[in-house]
Amino acid sequence: MNAIAKVEPLTTARALRGPFDYKLPDSMIGNVDVGSILMVPFARRRILGVVTDMAATSDVPPEKLAEPFKALGAGVPPKLVELGLWVADAYCSTPARGLALVTPPGTGTGQAKNTMSAKTVLVAQINEAGAAALTDETAKLTGAQRSALAALAEHPDGVPTASAKDLIGSTTQSLRRLESRGLLSIDERESRRVPIHQSVGALIERPPLTPDQASALSEIVRAIDHGFADLLLHGVTGSGKTEVYLGAAEAAVQDGKSVIVMVPEIALTPQVVTRFAARFKDRVAVMHSQLTPGQRHDEWMRIRRGEADIVVGPRSAVFAPVKDLGLLIVDEEHDASYKQDGDPRYDARDVALERARNEDATLLSGSATPRAEGWERSKHINLPQRVDGSPLPPVELLDMNGERGALHPKTSSALAAVASKGEKAIVLLNRRGWSNFLTCQDCGHSWICPNCDVTLVLHMAQSEMRCHHCGHRERVPEHCPECDSVSISRHGTGTERLQHELRDAIGHAVEIHRLDADTAARHGVSNVLREFEQASSGILIGTQMVAKGHDFPDVTLGVVIDADSTLNFPDFRAEERTFALVAQLGGRSGRGGTEGRVLVQTRSPDTRALRFAANHDSEGFVKEELERREAFGYPPFGHLIKIQTASEDLARAQTAADRLAKAIDLGGARVLGPINLFKRKGLERYQLEVKTYDREAAVTAVREAVELVSGGAAGRNVKFAVDVDPQ
Ligand code: ADP
Ligand code: ZN
Ligand code: ZN
Repeated sequence: MNAIAKVEPLTTARALRGPFDYKLPDSMIGNVDVGSILMVPFARRRILGVVTDMAATSDVPPEKLAEPFKALGAGVPPKLVELGLWVADAYCSTPARGLALVTPPGTGTGQAKNTMSAKTVLVAQINEAGAAALTDETAKLTGAQRSALAALAEHPDGVPTASAKDLIGSTTQSLRRLESRGLLSIDERESRRVPIHQSVGALIERPPLTPDQASALSEIVRAIDHGFADLLLHGVTGSGKTEVYLGAAEAAVQDGKSVIVMVPEIALTPQVVTRFAARFKDRVAVMHSQLTPGQRHDEWMRIRRGEADIVVGPRSAVFAPVKDLGLLIVDEEHDASYKQDGDPRYDARDVALERARNEDATLLSGSATPRAEGWERSKHINLPQRVDGSPLPPVELLDMNGERGALHPKTSSALAAVASKGEKAIVLLNRRGWSNFLTCQDCGHSWICPNCDVTLVLHMAQSEMRCHHCGHRERVPEHCPECDSVSISRHGTGTERLQHELRDAIGHAVEIHRLDADTAARHGVSNVLREFEQASSGILIGTQMVAKGHDFPDVTLGVVIDADSTLNFPDFRAEERTFALVAQLGGRSGRGGTEGRVLVQTRSPDTRALRFAANHDSEGFVKEELERREAFGYPPFGHLIKIQTASEDLARAQTAADRLAKAIDLGGARVLGPINLFKRKGLERYQLEVKTYDREAAVTAVREAVELVSGGAAGRNVKFAVDVDPQ
């Protein structure tokens, strides 16, 4: 029996070179193996670590080897240990951060104590005094307190304090202050079972498959029987992809295998979750971001024990500890949310491919607008038609050159027609707030965030100016701080202003709903969606959230207000993103037998992305896109690695970036920059870009350079961030 455990400590320190050897006491020998989670003595502290390997002997003399204090819980399946370490490597992170992705909730980096058995949660609930204060205009409440109480009033069962920030936009601290004033209660409660998602959209129980669906399914089922495969289900919006996923999942579990279903964002794609939950009931574990820590832990254990063999969740579901994985589904594979923001900046689609390969499972990605990467790499399965046979809605490009208002006359009349006929429309404007910047008419002063080099966005409802990067807020100015002038212009239109202008234009004939980060924080995404769905007619205005996967059968008009805002983004993916946005919005309308149409307002109607989108030609678009990518060495042909340095001190950020540029030692790869980025959250930033055809060699070179520079004098007070294959 091996008595030496090689342990990777779960600490945030970047400089550690693990794993470290520990000697197992007799009681642990045979019970500890790769994947076990141990509490170990480390640098005079007790911390958690993951066993990454076992050995009979150690290079360290036995008397110098420490013993673990204890082994905890069920541990991590060995294949997931491998996957966590792979992520650390592939995305230039640390083993601890990679492993934290696969360990049970509550054992991540920086968690010194064992929180794995959390069974109770704190729940905040509004009381009578709070409700009374809400209706009392004279109650002494700040705007934030009032909106926190209003949000709580919409959650009669209370809100877990741990997710209060996400759900209602309040911190525990601010809730505690309201509690001390007797306006709400905060109590400890047993963590409940995971609530199955509320239904949005009609459920059809097991419709007979169309011939296209049936042949797609049989091809997928054959692949699952064989083990590893990399499939792309390319199906137009409304072609019934979800029904194919359900069939494939059923086939896998009947074979005794497990299934992971990844969706972009649970709140935005409730229909997929609902349909899986309805079909497979208790076998489904849903991992959404709003679970309390206790619920999250319970779900993880249910999966680990094999009680749940179908897991539905956002990108992190790719790490679910299922038994005997047979099928990994990536719904809406074009969605940018599959890329993680923080370290490790993994791309769940690539992790899914790696995991499918390691565990001999089938990867099934699906989209109406596949990315160039997926198109090039995977085997295609096509669903060329909508299930109900309805045509895709005609898309009309409206040239905004020479137009002064936010709405083209055709858009105005189309929306007015929707209102008068009692129909539904979705209007996309990828900018929230009222105006995106303010200037002084007399001296030209503009209002900039003190922490970031960006303009402040006006939010009328709160009479505030906000920075969308750091959250800085200030009051709406009454006069210019430079010249005292009171003539202040507001430029640009955001969702808040558009809602207001539309109301002026078409009156109160129909309800106008708004879905953006602001209303989502106040009312909850699913509530806004449900209200729009249940209304007999209305207009839903919103940011790109409105173009995701909802299936409203009775929308007749889709409008893109400003296609240029995504097109002009300085990024090689801008066209692909614009194409997907327009095509996806088109997919929201004209379903269920209703006639639909799409209007796209733009100042550059000749753009490739828009022309292809207007023709519903995703294949034509992606083929041309691939040619362009190949010519420029962009993914999937070449790879990009971005490295950022950030410091309060401009010179430090710059020097560190210069050193990095010199230290990155690569034959064929090109290092671009450093360039200065706009200041963000008070930090000055520089960025380097490495372009390479040899991803692995480049990642290694970058890691070594970052270790060298960050460990030296030039690295002091500088933060480093590496992003491999950035989005
Ligand atoms: P997609 O994900 O490809 O956009 P969905 O899976 O959401 O499409 O299907 C669109 C609609 O068609 C849904 O309301 C779904 O219930 C319905 N549907 C799917 N397959 C069938 C079928 N074989 N017969 C009837 N209705 C179907
Ligand atoms: Zn001025
Ligand atoms: Zn800011």
